[in-house]
Amino acid sequence: MVTTHNLGFPRIGKKRELKFALEKYWKKIISREVLEETTADLRRQHWQDQSKLDFVPVGDFSLYDQVLDTSFMLGHVPSRVLDLPGDDLDSYFRVARGRSVSDDSSCSSISAGEMTKWFDTNYHYIVPEFDKNTQFSLDTSRLFQQIAEAKQQNVQVKPVILGPVTYLWLGKAKDQSNKLDLLDKLLSAYAELLSQLEGIGIQWVQIDEPVLVTELSQTWQHALRKAYFQLQTIPVNILLTTYFGQLKDNLQLACELPVNGLHLDAITAKDEVAKVIDWLPCHKVLSLGIINGRNVWKTDLTETLNWLEPIHARLQDRLWLAPSCSLLHVPVDLESERELDPDIESWLAFAIQKLDELSILAKALSKGRNTVAGKLLTNAAAINNRKHSNRVHNELVKKRVLEINGQMGTRQSPYPQRAITQHEKFNLPLYPTTTIGSFPQTQEIRQARKDFRSGSLSEEQYRQAMQQEISICVQEQEALGLDVLVHGEPERNDMVEYFSEYLTGYAFTQFGWVQSYGSRCVKPPIIFGDISRPHAITVDWIRYAQSLTKKPMKGMLTGPVTILNWSFVRDDQPRAETCLQLALAMRDEVLDLEKAGISIIQIDEAALREGLPLRKTQWQSYLQWAIRAFQITANGVKDETQIHTHMCYSEFNDIIEAIAEMDADVITIETSRSDMELLDVFDQFHYPNGIGPGVYDIHSPNIPSVDEMVNLMQMATQRIPAKRLWINPDCGLKTRSWEEVKLALSNMIAASQQLSVTP
Ligand code: GLN
Ligand code: ZN
Repeated sequence: MVTTHNLGFPRIGKKRELKFALEKYWKKIISREVLEETTADLRRQHWQDQSKLDFVPVGDFSLYDQVLDTSFMLGHVPSRVLDLPGDDLDSYFRVARGRSVSDDSSCSSISAGEMTKWFDTNYHYIVPEFDKNTQFSLDTSRLFQQIAEAKQQNVQVKPVILGPVTYLWLGKAKDQSNKLDLLDKLLSAYAELLSQLEGIGIQWVQIDEPVLVTELSQTWQHALRKAYFQLQTIPVNILLTTYFGQLKDNLQLACELPVNGLHLDAITAKDEVAKVIDWLPCHKVLSLGIINGRNVWKTDLTETLNWLEPIHARLQDRLWLAPSCSLLHVPVDLESERELDPDIESWLAFAIQKLDELSILAKALSKGRNTVAGKLLTNAAAINNRKHSNRVHNELVKKRVLEINGQMGTRQSPYPQRAITQHEKFNLPLYPTTTIGSFPQTQEIRQARKDFRSGSLSEEQYRQAMQQEISICVQEQEALGLDVLVHGEPERNDMVEYFSEYLTGYAFTQFGWVQSYGSRCVKPPIIFGDISRPHAITVDWIRYAQSLTKKPMKGMLTGPVTILNWSFVRDDQPRAETCLQLALAMRDEVLDLEKAGISIIQIDEAALREGLPLRKTQWQSYLQWAIRAFQITANGVKDETQIHTHMCYSEFNDIIEAIAEMDADVITIETSRSDMELLDVFDQFHYPNGIGPGVYDIHSPNIPSVDEMVNLMQMATQRIPAKRLWINPDCGLKTRSWEEVKLALSNMIAASQQLSVTP
């Protein structure tokens, strides 16, 4: 017998039911009772969808975030939300999003918990806040209620708990204290939790310790040892799960911790499986995550079985099977899709289909391949079809990638020389002003895009409507007096989807939503084949915008690394290879813009940092190909063409060298909230090119004053010579209103003028 289980199921719902219920609750359209009924229905549905498994996860569902749930279960709630009006759910949402419901005025000054990326995924969790006085007091009511619900459904329950060491590791000490000093207190809470679970007859508990795939100091390794030596006294079986990477230096530790089973991500750590089998004491269960929980592709079942059968022969009942990680990171159900091309659809598997694959594999191992022969055949046909499809493979694209040479990523002259040429050409003032690309996406713009999609607006009508928006945007910028203008991006829904729709090798889903944080979801497009750009994408829009003004019009593109990092990618070739294909496609666009007379081109790389691997030792190899891809896109232009890039985050300390290698003439970054301190690293590194540090926090409705912006720029001038500085907002303006934008930009321009007189 092979035991099957799942580490976690997407909670958002096939049609994003959770999102809509939450948003209605926040707007007070539905009551708490209705919200709870909806979520209970969702959980029931999800257990139903997993009912073929031997164990289903319970506790993986969350109204906002599982890390925040853990904080509440541990009674570890920031003091700023205590003693406010309302119930436990009000406190919960106040930590999650700064307020409980949309007009929650009782706590206008409450700040939400900080949010950050969950390991190397696009999911964001609420960071636990620690200080030396942090106390824990267990409250298991939510988890136990869900266990009771699941039991009613006749499924075998396996509670899922975030491990104590990972919980500490994910949090932040707010007072310089050492988080690990809290371990003893935390372990008492966990011990109590496990005893209570044992008390209600739970056999197996899944405890997630994904820190085990990161570089751990001896202190953290010791914390893991201590935690599980202490927790082993409670008579409940612990399945310790690791995922998202290899164990490497932690392998022996992971095998030796006194738990009853270990789960390994057998997709990313496949070559560690043999070693783990050797090291793992023979009373322990080994759970192998053999279905990829991070992508949307069908598993090659035959190949997996070929690999698994000898392992099964050796481990017998000790072998458990699961997806590699929680299925939170993939869409729910392929069956919902109505518009996918049948070929491509036959290559895909979403959460529900991945669990079917799991059952097929388990049955083949337990009862023989012949019991699932038909299913294996269908699977093999799809795998084979994908492997050889000429929709996937385009020899011309592959050849172009092979022919990439060193020169293609290098500008004709070094920056100082280009800067002179560009100065002669553009003759911009000191502290030139520009924006990051998008202007307010008004209701009319959204409606026009919608009408065009549904067919109620013809292509010609749509083009006219967008041109109208562009011309308004250009007029406003001229009236404000900006130096370098943009067209405003009215035709773009999103900075990745927009471009991918014009590239070959991309497919799009209708319901392929994945939770990003809280009620927010993203629908990443799917790269299935070799990528090319059959026609220019932005040239007509930008050329039209340039025709309306004598000022330079900045062409606006998304860079290859960001397009890659915000898509589901192929699993049949390395990411680096796909990124180079994207780089060539976007290079074509850059060169077409240049040919059309556009002499300033911005290439956004908002997600470059997101692609950094979990382990620092692997950063260099990622940065090498990622930066190379950017260079190939950007650097084929003439000296007089000015390349801008934009990154909307504020951590450059550890990647400054790579940023400099990109060799963009100007980089615009997000700095308005950090007093320009983050320019220090540019200063220390003697970053040689132009920089536009953001002076307008576009996330806030506040209008920055002239003085504030002058002040920020003066701080910038202390670090970067004035002649290399630009003035711009932190990021695009699409979420702001015209009223706000006009006020803020007019102050920004006044600040620039004031600075050029008295820098
Ligand atoms: N050009 C894009 C915009 O202005 C950049 C968005 C981003 O960096 N996130 O909206
Ligand atoms: Zn940005």
